[in-house]
Amino acid sequence: MKLNVTIIRSKRKSISLRVNDSNRIEVRVPIKISKEEIEQFVRSKTSWIKKQIEENERKQLFSKQFDFERHNYILGKTFEKEPNFSYKNRAEQVLHQLAQIISKEINIEYKSYRVITSKRLWGSFSSQKELSLNYKCIILPENLTRYIIIHELCHSKEMNHSPKFWNLVKKFCPNYKILKKQLNDYSFLLKQKDLK
Ligand SMILES: [Zn+2]
Repeated sequence: MKLNVTIIRSKRKSISLRVNDSNRIEVRVPIKISKEEIEQFVRSKTSWIKKQIEENERKQLFSKQFDFERHNYILGKTFEKEPNFSYKNRAEQVLHQLAQIISKEINIEYKSYRVITSKRLWGSFSSQKELSLNYKCIILPENLTRYIIIHELCHSKEMNHSPKFWNLVKKFCPNYKILKKQLNDYSFLLKQKDLK
């Protein structure tokens, strides 16, 4: 297997290795380290690297099933593309409705709600109890959107990702670990340019 490796030297003590989305391997190393040592390190991680590349390819294949030119996707269902359709407008109504239902169901309230555009976050919850949801949540299958809303609302009780927080999420969403993994497959949506 031919590896595409970039070496980044800096003032650091250890070596770290990362496979980015385009399958390039970034190795961060201390300034005074020999080429041989770096090569040896990379070689020792070959099977891990291979796994990462396979995972990238699987995710790319997954993302190819979506055709935003021809279809609209709402809560996991596929529709013909409507003229003048706006994901942001639809998200305002649909996500808020869902948030209200879930908030009642799990008995955790929020004070305000807004739809956000973010290349990094599906949602967030502020100390002022404002629930923010990325408009792209509307594209996800409903169980994943539910998980995101439950996750954010649970931050009303625990403003962190401690075991206590995850226990609370688990109470309302027993299979949250599986959902978290599934959600990871949709991360291409976050990075994608704005959807009309
Ligand atoms: Zn969180």
